[in-house]
Amino acid sequence: MDSSSRSAVIIIGAGVSGISAAKVLAENGIADLLILEASDRIGGRIRKESFGGVSVELGAGWIAGVGGKASNPVWEIAAKFGLRTCFSDYSNARYNIYDRSGKIFPSGIAADSYKKAVDSAIQRLRELESDCVVDVPNGAELPSTPKTPIELAIDFILHDFEMAGNCLGLLLLTVVFKHMSSNYSRDSYNYNAEHVFLCMDLGQVVRELQHSRNGVTVQTEDGFVYEANYVILSASIGVLQSDLICFRPPLPRWKTEAIEKCDVMVYTKIFLKFPYKFWPCGPDKEFFIYAHERRGYYTFWQHMENAYPGSNILVVTLTNGESKRVEAQSDAETLKEAMGVLCDMFGPEIPTATDILVPRWWNNRFQRGSYSNYPIISDNQVVIDIKAPVGRIFFTGEHTSERFNGYVHGGYLAGIDTSKALLAEIRKYERENESKSFLLDPLLALTGSLTLSQSDTVSGLQKCDVPTQLYLSGKLGITEAIL
Ligand SMILES: Cc1cc2nc3c(=O)[nH]c(=O)nc-3n(C[C@H](O)[C@H](O)[C@H](O)COP(=O)(O)OP(=O)(O)OC[C@H]3O[C@@H](n4cnc5c(N)ncnc54)[C@H](O)[C@@H]3O)c2cc1C
Repeated sequence: MDSSSRSAVIIIGAGVSGISAAKVLAENGIADLLILEASDRIGGRIRKESFGGVSVELGAGWIAGVGGKASNPVWEIAAKFGLRTCFSDYSNARYNIYDRSGKIFPSGIAADSYKKAVDSAIQRLRELESDCVVDVPNGAELPSTPKTPIELAIDFILHDFEMAGNCLGLLLLTVVFKHMSSNYSRDSYNYNAEHVFLCMDLGQVVRELQHSRNGVTVQTEDGFVYEANYVILSASIGVLQSDLICFRPPLPRWKTEAIEKCDVMVYTKIFLKFPYKFWPCGPDKEFFIYAHERRGYYTFWQHMENAYPGSNILVVTLTNGESKRVEAQSDAETLKEAMGVLCDMFGPEIPTATDILVPRWWNNRFQRGSYSNYPIISDNQVVIDIKAPVGRIFFTGEHTSERFNGYVHGGYLAGIDTSKALLAEIRKYERENESKSFLLDPLLALTGSLTLSQSDTVSGLQKCDVPTQLYLSGKLGITEAIL
């Protein structure tokens, strides 16, 4: 199948960055926008699913850094719409560390191990900062290398599980997202009521971007062809590292090298539903840790009683190698392993989980991981290059955020930044064309040939007057989109 149409801007991806980018463009008068989304839903890595009688968040569940000096814009959106949030503080998790026989480590031992791990992380950071090479004899380990199960567990929490020093709000982020898109639709509609033409196509997997000085041709897996003056690409760093999207001509070397330098973190929340609660609840018990000789083996646990009282759901977080291993096996095997761990902690009498949900972010070809992870000491140039446009293709997404990569607010702010950069480019182009037409008009009048019309001079930016409507095509219903 082959169809063709031309838009001022095509945004690839309907995650938080794509939507915030569209909002800014629409507010600034770019009326002819098309969003192409590969999956059958909006939200990207904010993704709710029904499980065990409630709606659980498979992706972003936390608004990080709440209570810090600068306000988190996602928190502001949540507050504005009065969304239900649930406060969590996992700083006490280190005092709920279970060994394999179900005993909780004495708080003194846990505190010492924690201090040791923090000191060693700081020391390592200083070494990296000063580029100082530590002289370690062949085969010997650094004195700080975690060895015992408790040290491995704490090392995992420190390095693989985000330790936001501030209080955290746990929130139904999909709801935030829906409000954002509702806001986006209404705002843009009101902003330019006479010339709004927003189109979102779901299930459109972009496979090729052919770009030149004149525009970008976008080809999808189903053979649809779209033309645009500009493209904003919000696909994740994992997708950029994969071969899902082919660029013609290929991206320059500085760009591909930067993309390769950024690590992809895999972070998996596995949900388990039980017939009844058998874990301790109450203050400071929301999070608990399992210390095993294998680093990251079902280490970090959370009960959902605070968020969903009576749901009898536990969540265990796996990362990177363990995430990939679990993604590759059946859910029944994962359930067996998780039950083994829970029996170690709470005894053999506990009930077996009645249901399990294992998200597969790594094997999802529209994600290829959970979020970007720049090396701790990395050249700022890497993120600058990842963000930089190539011709008429602009890049956005959490991985392009210099300060908040890996977070929803990083994606949200990146979408705004990218749109502003694109708007500046469009305005520059308009100014250049205006001056060209100013010079050409007298010549054309003299030769008696056609005079350029206003819409031609802005090169299809506003090709023609479009109907006053908000148009959402594909499988997305109006109510779903704006609720
Ligand atoms: C398990 C997990 C837990 C997380 N926890 C938190 C948290 O607690 N707090 C927090 O702030 N952040 C968290 N994050 C990170 C947060 O979810 C992301 O940073 C943010 O949602 C990324 O938004 P984005 O718009 O950059 O990308 P995405 O949401 O990935 O949007 C990109 C969109 O592009 C689409 N796409 C990709 N390729 C194509 C293509 N070829 N054609 C068309 N469309 C395409 C994708 O389907 C996707 O919808 C978590 C992420 C995960 C996975």
